[in-house]
Amino acid sequence: MPEKESRKSSNSAVDIAPVNYNVCEGIEIETKAKNNLTIKEYSGTGKKGGVKIDIIVNYCKGCEICVAFCPEGVLAMNKEVAEVVDISKCTKCNICEYLCPDFSITVEE
Ligand code: SF4
Ligand code: SF4
Repeated sequence: MPEKESRKSSNSAVDIAPVNYNVCEGIEIETKAKNNLTIKEYSGTGKKGGVKIDIIVNYCKGCEICVAFCPEGVLAMNKEVAEVVDISKCTKCNICEYLCPDFSITVEE
C-alpha cells in the first residue's frame, strides 16, 4: 500500500497534525495525532452513502467485539487493533460504536 506525502492540517486550533495519508480500494485512510492519541480515519462510500469511521488506536484493546458484531464484515483485527477492511459494506448502523467498551470507534456521515 503506497504512502503519500505528509500533509499539514489547516485546523491548528484543535491540535490535529496528519501523519500520513493512504488510499486503497475505495477507502481513504488518514492517520492523525491529537493530544498524544493516534487516530486512524477511514472514509469512503458505504451502502448508505458517505461514511467516516474513526478508530483511536491507543484506546483499542483488541477485544474484537466490533469485528464480531458488525453485521456487514466491515471490520477486522490487525494484530491487536481493529481496522476497517471494506467500508463499501458499511450501513452506518453504529453497532460497533455502541458496543465498543473503550469508546475507540466512532461512525459519522
Ligand atoms: S470493540 Fe473497541 S476496543 Fe474492542 S476491538 Fe473494537 S475498537 Fe477495539
Ligand atoms: S456502523 Fe455498522 S456496518 Fe458500519 S462498521 Fe459499524 S457495525 Fe459495521
